[in-house]
Amino acid sequence: MGYTTFLLDLDHTLLDSDRSESLAFDYTMRSAGINDPDTYVDVYRKINLELWARVEQGELRPQEVRTLRFERLVEQKKIKADPLQMAEDFVEGLGSNGSLYPGARDVLDQLSETARLALVTNGLSEVQRARIKRLDIEQYFDSIIISAEIGAAKPGTKIFDIVFSELGSPPRNEVLMVGDSLSSDIRGGQKYGIATCWYNPKRRQLDIDLEPKYEISDLYELLKFVGL
Ligand SMILES: [Mg+2]
Repeated sequence: MGYTTFLLDLDHTLLDSDRSESLAFDYTMRSAGINDPDTYVDVYRKINLELWARVEQGELRPQEVRTLRFERLVEQKKIKADPLQMAEDFVEGLGSNGSLYPGARDVLDQLSETARLALVTNGLSEVQRARIKRLDIEQYFDSIIISAEIGAAKPGTKIFDIVFSELGSPPRNEVLMVGDSLSSDIRGGQKYGIATCWYNPKRRQLDIDLEPKYEISDLYELLKFVGL
């Protein structure tokens, strides 16, 4: 306890990324002349997850995922559409759709009064920057690190080195990494030697060899770490 610095994930932690993705996917498919987007969404999600897992492994760069996911989709589902255009439309749709989870802004408001916050996200620059601007959340963070902008992603150590350096090297025992992803947020924080807090609103089972120091199902639980 007694954390002075919080590293926060964005997708599925503060932001309702499922909603953002489904609206963007719908827009992309309809723009490509496909009127039954729902038929394709499961295949798309599978492809996208596999590609981001490869980014976590360091095998792909985030920027490569942008187009590759639609090249794969078009190929697998034999769709007659231009994957490059789809990638453009999707990125635009992701940036302009999706809200913070209920309560997230209030938690950021209260937490930022007493602690330093950094946003540490694996994602595309143009998507995340558009969201941060539209949602007006930049003010809460002392540092915003987007994997595509620095060429390094969670769970690697380089992204943590960069955020620590931007924050003026706080003592590691005062820093808490908060996120929904075991493979990037929790593994990354654990490897870096900082405490981790797994945001697990759906109360999934812990199925890999990781030990998040804390587990929460509601963002308001973060306030207890700063005595609120
Ligand atoms: Mg996440």
